[in-house]
Amino acid sequence: MRRRAGQQCCGRSIESSSDGGGFCRCGCCRKKGIQCRTDAEKRIRHCNKPAHLFSRSKSMSSAPEWLSNEQESASLAAMLSPSSPLSLESLAAESKAITLRRFGRTISLYAPLYLSNHCSSGCIYCGFASDRTTLRRRLEPDEIERELLAMKKLGISDILLLTGERTKAADFDYLRRAVEIAARSTQRVSVEAFPMSVAEYRTLAECGCTGITIYQETYNRERYEELHRWGPKKDFLDRLETPARALEGGIKTVGLGVLLGLSEPVEDALMLYRHVRHLSRAYWRAGISVSFPRMRPQTGGYEPPFPVDDHFLARMIFTFRIALPDVELVLSTRESAAYRDGMAGLGITRMSIASRTTVGGYDENNTDKGQFDVFDDRTAEEFCAALRAREIEPVFKNWEPVFNGPSGTQSRTLTQEGNCTHATER
Ligand code: SF4
Repeated sequence: MRRRAGQQCCGRSIESSSDGGGFCRCGCCRKKGIQCRTDAEKRIRHCNKPAHLFSRSKSMSSAPEWLSNEQESASLAAMLSPSSPLSLESLAAESKAITLRRFGRTISLYAPLYLSNHCSSGCIYCGFASDRTTLRRRLEPDEIERELLAMKKLGISDILLLTGERTKAADFDYLRRAVEIAARSTQRVSVEAFPMSVAEYRTLAECGCTGITIYQETYNRERYEELHRWGPKKDFLDRLETPARALEGGIKTVGLGVLLGLSEPVEDALMLYRHVRHLSRAYWRAGISVSFPRMRPQTGGYEPPFPVDDHFLARMIFTFRIALPDVELVLSTRESAAYRDGMAGLGITRMSIASRTTVGGYDENNTDKGQFDVFDDRTAEEFCAALRAREIEPVFKNWEPVFNGPSGTQSRTLTQEGNCTHATER
């Protein structure tokens, strides 16, 4: 039986189609021209997807079992606890030693490029929410080229393309085109945009997208409901499953995180850790990174009800490094220059630089208000000089598509400088 838009199908929202019927947003039914079924087993069979993608408990609207597996995160909980006998200094020393061993004295660098601030969602903490009076615009292809050129002059070749939730102004085709443009002139292109279907992620991967960033914002479902007032982002489970869909579609790296300040931070940290562990097991070849964004002032003036201080953030970073030695840990320009300098080499291995959070922000004449206020506003040169002063090498290029042969066989390529590249991305 066909379902109407707004009804639930396999726990996902239904998109409307021209004849009034609907398909679930994973896109599998649309592709095969058949209706989604409410029976999970049948759905898995007809989708031909691994069962772990749909490892929810009996009620299809409830969260997957791995999310509440306290045993999984017991060791992290012990280190994160305020009553832990482990001092911050001892955690920092261990974290530093692991970072040095696994990543060397390097920090890989990237920068965000905001493509569009159109958005259909009502996240209470965001300056781009659809009820804000922010001037809406999107970059056209020639403007994207200009922004990329400006970023290239800063030395940036690792780009994160951002949009709001899916809208007519910035839909999948728009994003795909932007990825194609960026992939022509940059070494690495990732996206932080709306959740997509497996088929859509596959298309993006074919166009040159290697990574996605998708924060759950908070893993506390009740808080999630309150914070996401309307729009597609209100679908907690759909967002939770998005990283798995991206990896299933051939995207190589996924970035996870919570927006610190929205909900109880220890609880969020533990569930974030379980999410990383779940994906690591299901997709052992995937590159996974974890970010630690704290709330910053934004249009709308939402005040974080669970503010996270410097001390707790440092403890969280160190414990994640100890518990997840190979995972990339990211710190953005939301943090102050002094804090970022202090964290470089102690656990963090990837940072954004010279960030602009406005659409068209690399144009010097742009005075628009961004998604949030950046804290570390140093130029790329100033930031790199600060890293080098601490004997840490800034890495602008850390990726070469050596695994992308027709059969996925390993090959080795030379960089322009003639050095043989590493065959993996960190
Ligand atoms: S956080 Fe993203 S989805 Fe939510 S309002 Fe802002 S741009 Fe839209």
